[in-house]
Amino acid sequence: MTEEVDQQVPRALITGITGQDGLYLGEFLAAKGYEVFGMVRGQSNPKIPTVEEYIPSIQLLEGDLRDLSSLIGVLETAQPDEIYNLGAISFVGLSFKQPELTGDITGMGVLRMLEAVRIHTQGSMNGVRFYQASSSEMFGQTTETPQRETTQFHPRSPYGVGKVFGHYVTQNYRESYDAWACSGILFNHESPRRGFEFLTRKVTRAVARIALGRQKVLAVGNMEVSRDWGFAGDYVRAMWLMLQQDEPEDYVIATGTGHSVRNLLQIAFKHVGIDDWRPYVVQDERFFRPADVAILVGDATKARDKLGWRPTVGFRQLIEMMVEADLENEKRNAGTGRELTTASSRACRPTGPGKDVNRDVPPRY
Ligand code: NAP
Repeated sequence: MTEEVDQQVPRALITGITGQDGLYLGEFLAAKGYEVFGMVRGQSNPKIPTVEEYIPSIQLLEGDLRDLSSLIGVLETAQPDEIYNLGAISFVGLSFKQPELTGDITGMGVLRMLEAVRIHTQGSMNGVRFYQASSSEMFGQTTETPQRETTQFHPRSPYGVGKVFGHYVTQNYRESYDAWACSGILFNHESPRRGFEFLTRKVTRAVARIALGRQKVLAVGNMEVSRDWGFAGDYVRAMWLMLQQDEPEDYVIATGTGHSVRNLLQIAFKHVGIDDWRPYVVQDERFFRPADVAILVGDATKARDKLGWRPTVGFRQLIEMMVEADLENEKRNAGTGRELTTASSRACRPTGPGKDVNRDVPPRY
């Protein structure tokens, strides 16, 4: 039996709703008038209250990218016009420690989701628009800089390899079954909602704690690598734009500017008044990857020309926003002994720093 569907209101399903991008995208689509369904895994996922707080109109459905029948069930309930497949093991470091799980979720999970759509639509895949969250980590050991849609892939981690599989299987369903399916090859994007395991957030949190006298030293891995870091709020807008086009195509989404880890450290420490960050930072080989990626910088010319997409938040503004949010977190929780998680942090709303509000408040989408 199928639920009666209001044909006027667009319906979107987001996997990975509890993650950084899921929260921004859910807010964005709800504000656009979508009926938003979010897929959550686990019997009592601790991040559910946060999702419901940020997106009060959200409808949560239980499902797991490792379980095809659960995905079919989610599609039957949600009956989405648009699917955003954001669910993944997304941390490169973890993918080296749990490569099989990463392959199963980040790679095979995409195939299962596409198969679920094929079964749900009884072969008419063209009627549902599908977005796959591809990644710049697919480029890995780059053959050209900046990287664009045509740059050859050479992934350097189980995560990157899983993403390449997801990328190609999305293309394959487009060619084989006429699926309206596209991939966004997104370069790193960050925010105050970024998980603590990711480098930018690890740095901004440590800087806040050092400034408040709660931590002495920050240990990082390879300081020479360079990445193209943008603001997550800008990047979810690009995902939506891709699904509003006449034809499904793949797009690189990036700022076009690379920054080294040293540069990140300099900006973050400077924001709390520390000019020389070197006494506070140690390079620890335990954080080095078995195979690393030296530089990733994207060329988003196609997205600019065809989607009209441009990033609105620069690197310095992004890092300062994150440091401010972490300072706020740390002060709020001083003395409570509470360990913050992304999910429980109220300061994850990017309200911007208090120092120069006019300059630094990031846009809300
Ligand atoms: P994130 O914060 O790590 O979120 C990952 C999401 O995947 C979480 O909601 C997680 O749910 C979910 N998930 C994990 N295993 C799952 C499973 N078995 N079934 C269903 N859901 C599962 O990642 P993000 O930064 O929002 O990124 C969103 C997507 O974009 C990911 O696919 C990521 O690889 C990709 N991407 C991100 C970036 C970036 O810089 N952020 C760049 C390029 C591509 P739980 O809460 O249950 O763990």
